[in-house]
Amino acid sequence: MPIAILSALPEEQDGLVHLLQDVQQSEHAGRVFWRGSLHGQQVICALSGIGKVAAATTAVALLERFNAQAIVFTGVAGGLGDGVNVGDVVVATDYVQHDMDASPLFPRYEIPGYGRQRFACDPTLTDKLAQAVRYCVEHQAAAWTATLNLPAPRMHEGLTVSGDRFVSGAQESAQLRQGLEQAGLHPLAVEMEGAAIAQVCADYGVPFAAMRSISDRADDAAHVDFPKFVQSIASRYAQVVIEDLCKRIAA
Ligand code: SAH
Repeated sequence: MPIAILSALPEEQDGLVHLLQDVQQSEHAGRVFWRGSLHGQQVICALSGIGKVAAATTAVALLERFNAQAIVFTGVAGGLGDGVNVGDVVVATDYVQHDMDASPLFPRYEIPGYGRQRFACDPTLTDKLAQAVRYCVEHQAAAWTATLNLPAPRMHEGLTVSGDRFVSGAQESAQLRQGLEQAGLHPLAVEMEGAAIAQVCADYGVPFAAMRSISDRADDAAHVDFPKFVQSIASRYAQVVIEDLCKRIAA
């Protein structure tokens, strides 16, 4: 029963493959897939590249070709919600595509054909992921964030939104948030892949869970904060949390 560990960028998963035992590497659809085991759990690691289409293609390959029984995403995101600061971690409860707009034919943010805006993450898998994130945040991650002069991180759980745009302006992010809030949606974080994977997993009836460490506040400093964080901290979260998650799944 292999589970897939998916990220968009190499920096988000750096070092994770080295933790696997009996690794087999293969190529498919222009991507590299690494199969192996971690604490007795079969895993497949893959990188999607950036954006919703790349993420959906990779998710389908993981399900169809590699028989993944669940997908867990680990990566970074911009913080949107109040108090969601650089260094914190958001565990997604559900996802919305913030750039879906088929209005006036359909309500803003609704995915045509699905009759809804939100795609929920799997509660059981998300609960295990949140336990692993909480442990990491409380016991290890403060030492990492201190290296960037950031305060001790906190964990948040809630709505995450995705779209094909790097949100990097205070005004842009305020507008994004305002539009979503008018539709009763209160996002904690914004990124570029998760909602696509959530939709694919809903189509296939496969559990999905996601954690995003906050690399920037999607504001005017985002282009400066993002590279610093993604290079130094994102993969540490991935290694520690995914290892712990595999132990919890295997237990
Ligand atoms: N500089 C990178 C591009 C990164 S795009 C390169 O050249 O390869 C940003 C990535 O991080 C996406 O995968 C997205 O999911 C996530 N992300 C982090 N902060 C974000 C933000 N403020 N807006 C949108 N996506 C963000």
